[in-house]
Amino acid sequence: MPMSQSFKERLFPIANEIAAHYGTPFHIYDEAGLRATGEELQQAFSGIDGFREYFAVKALPNPRILELMKEMGFGFDCSSIPELIMSRNSGGQGEDIMFTSNNTDPEEFAAAAANGGCILNLDDVSLIAKVPEFPELVCFRYNPGPRRTGNIIIGNPVEAKYGITHEQVISAYRMAMERGAKRFGLHTMVASNERDYSYIVETARMLLQIAELVEEELGIRFEFLNIGGGLGIPYKPEDQPLDLSAMAKEITDLFNEFKTTHGYAPRMYMESGRWVAGPHGALITKVINHKSTYRNYVGVDACMSALMRPAMYDAYHHLDVIGKEDQDHSEVYDVVGSLCENNDKFVVQRNLPVIRENDLLVIHDTGAHGHAMGFQYNGRLRPKELLLRTDGTIELIRRAETNEDYFQTLNFEPDNFDAK
Ligand SMILES: *Cc1c(COP(=O)(O)O)cnc(C)c1O
Repeated sequence: MPMSQSFKERLFPIANEIAAHYGTPFHIYDEAGLRATGEELQQAFSGIDGFREYFAVKALPNPRILELMKEMGFGFDCSSIPELIMSRNSGGQGEDIMFTSNNTDPEEFAAAAANGGCILNLDDVSLIAKVPEFPELVCFRYNPGPRRTGNIIIGNPVEAKYGITHEQVISAYRMAMERGAKRFGLHTMVASNERDYSYIVETARMLLQIAELVEEELGIRFEFLNIGGGLGIPYKPEDQPLDLSAMAKEITDLFNEFKTTHGYAPRMYMESGRWVAGPHGALITKVINHKSTYRNYVGVDACMSALMRPAMYDAYHHLDVIGKEDQDHSEVYDVVGSLCENNDKFVVQRNLPVIRENDLLVIHDTGAHGHAMGFQYNGRLRPKELLLRTDGTIELIRRAETNEDYFQTLNFEPDNFDAK
């Protein structure tokens, strides 16, 4: 990682043929890599009874991908109605689905309860009274506030809009019991793209402490603790990867200690998106223009509608030029899309090989929060998604948007109104 050597070796030699067949640009995902990482995660936590990954659907919301996750035994973490629908259509049922909304709308409660329900993860105490039919199993999202310092992307917990405060925990579960809840979970999400595994270990420790506190006060035994997602991946070649096995060992030890002291331990859930999917996707785009002004610009046929992270977070994504992997990085380029925003750049002032029109560029690590974050601003449409299957064949798993798609929301019945 980033982008595995194995994915490169299978993708790069056939990239030109894939581009010729499907046209550019496209994201392509690696089934073999997704499965290997999924298995690695399960293996790492096999010492905890009932460990389960709930794949964060927002990272890569594609039914074909969700089916793969389901096959690996994963559940789904959703936070919107379309994500719930997609998870259910991909085989998720009941407690396979965790619904973690915030600022929740009544329609969302109805959708969460429909079709066999799901695990409802409440974001605030004020929502307890608003759940129409209170479920037997309920979970709260905990925000430690000043007890944790947060990490860079997700920020300081005190400023985060998510979850209930430390002081609200006991009353939240008490109120839930009064509404008939009998089974309980506890959730938090305090990191994003965190490669320092000890931060995640501290999160597990924190949840175990809260579980102990709530049990002492209310006699509740938690069925599960969900430590959230936020496991980081190395986007830059020099980034140190997160040490998954060291992390899993320390967390497993914490759960075992809890079991020794209390005679039971909750199950552990995780809801990774980036760790599971991030390295197993790439955006392939073709060079269509070249411009030399105050800087040297390479213009490609994708833009930030296909990958927002560089523009939004100033994020680094590694870039290779197909067929020029071994050439000297003798030029300095900005690689840009065609959107009328100057931050529509995939790379800025990067040393790269000499790039010519029609070259294919591979932008690494777009498997999570890549296509999913795209938008249509400026009439720039989102590209297709492909899956490189384990047998080496390619499957189209989402077509590119068309101009007709863009105009769909303008098909409606006239509705004029005079409030006077
Ligand atoms: C976004 C999100 C995740 C996934 O985060 P990653 O950084 O992709 O692991 C998990 N849980 C919740 C509640 C989220 O909002």
